[in-house]
Amino acid sequence: MPEGAAPPVERQLPTEEARDLFALVRELVQREIAPHAAAEEEAGHFPRELFTLLSESGLLGLAYDSEFGGGDQPYEVYLQVLEELAAARLTVGLGVSVHSLACHGLAGYGTKEQQSEHLPDMLGGGLLGAYCLSEPSSGSDAASLRTKAVRDGDDWVITGTKAWITHGGIADFYTVLARTGGEGAHGVTAFLVPGDAEGLTAAVPEKKMGMKGSPTAQLHFDGVRVPDARRVGDVGQGFAIALSALDSGRLGIAACAIGVAQAALDEAVAYATERKQFGRPIADFQGLRFMLADMATQIEAGRALYLAAARLRDAGRPFSKQAAMAKLLCTDTAMKVTTDAVQVLGGYGYTLDFPVERFMREAKVLQIVEGTNQIQRMVIARHLAGPDSR
Ligand SMILES: Cc1cc2nc3c(=O)[nH]c(=O)nc-3n(C[C@H](O)[C@H](O)[C@H](O)COP(=O)(O)OP(=O)(O)OC[C@H]3O[C@@H](n4cnc5c(N)ncnc54)[C@H](O)[C@@H]3O)c2cc1C
Repeated sequence: MPEGAAPPVERQLPTEEARDLFALVRELVQREIAPHAAAEEEAGHFPRELFTLLSESGLLGLAYDSEFGGGDQPYEVYLQVLEELAAARLTVGLGVSVHSLACHGLAGYGTKEQQSEHLPDMLGGGLLGAYCLSEPSSGSDAASLRTKAVRDGDDWVITGTKAWITHGGIADFYTVLARTGGEGAHGVTAFLVPGDAEGLTAAVPEKKMGMKGSPTAQLHFDGVRVPDARRVGDVGQGFAIALSALDSGRLGIAACAIGVAQAALDEAVAYATERKQFGRPIADFQGLRFMLADMATQIEAGRALYLAAARLRDAGRPFSKQAAMAKLLCTDTAMKVTTDAVQVLGGYGYTLDFPVERFMREAKVLQIVEGTNQIQRMVIARHLAGPDSR
């Protein structure tokens, strides 16, 4: 452990193999990720070569079946790995989570032939994925998407625009939800589109508040032709596949949020024990001690909630409500804790000399992606009180 660094989070890991995995992850974080995070984020640099290394190290397919190159790890282990990666750099943690989301459709709903043809490269062969659901006019109301796929012989021809795509323009494959039938959720089908498909172009990436190293771009599909062999699941099953991916993906966002919050708390504690005012370390003052105590408590509560949801998933039990609750609580916690960390550092917290202002900017996006926190509340309420009767 580097001098002055906070002790690593004590992990609850179910096997010796998972403990070994953590040693590898922590070494990789210290060597390859943490030292470059601040400068590369400021410069807006996406570490593509790092993702190749993560893929080759088995960290891009951890929770998937080893039959197709995955790591066979329980979700509770995968999520704790994500937390460590996101604590070092959200662009990396979230990037791994989005890649995993992009693999979900094929791994869960693809045919054996499709899986053996594509999954080994996707899970451990160096490829990077992206997930394309949102559009300029459909975000929260995702079932109203307009991108069309029209059958032409053995092919489908895709036309439309996807928006806000993480890894847009640099991904090797895109899981794309497109309309093949009538209006609403039942008219949507999923496709696996190669990154170099003819007619597929990316706009200039969005200029964002945070996560500047992670490219987010619109994608234009101008008559992109894909063979029917790249259709994932049945015609009309796409929206169900998209939602199933999001249940798991939301747990990834929850884990990333706790990683960012933990990193902010560690900075705040280190600063508060060093910085002196009125002749004493500011950590002596009850006003700050209670703030630190609340931050730590909220982080532990969030971690316990995402792990409980992950263990339901690992046991094959329904976990959709708990995933929404974990996404909601953990991302609101990250926003609160990172804002408080800036406060603990006073004026220095507001400068680029310390990472807490970056953590605060990064936390904000986690309340928005993969269903805003208003949408999470709608999902939870639906589990409690049934569908909205309007
Ligand atoms: C950095 C970044 C990366 C992203 N990556 C991806 C990606 O890889 N793939 C992808 O498909 N999408 C991605 N997204 C898109 C993201 O999922 C959407 O931004 C999100 O779902 C919200 O959609 P919207 O932005 O259109 O907002 P809107 O849906 O227009 O919502 C605007 C506001 O209205 C609220 N609202 C909407 N409907 C309701 C309602 N019924 N009740 C109460 N409040 C409501 C929302 O909560 C929000 O506060 C990304 C977004 C960002 C910012």
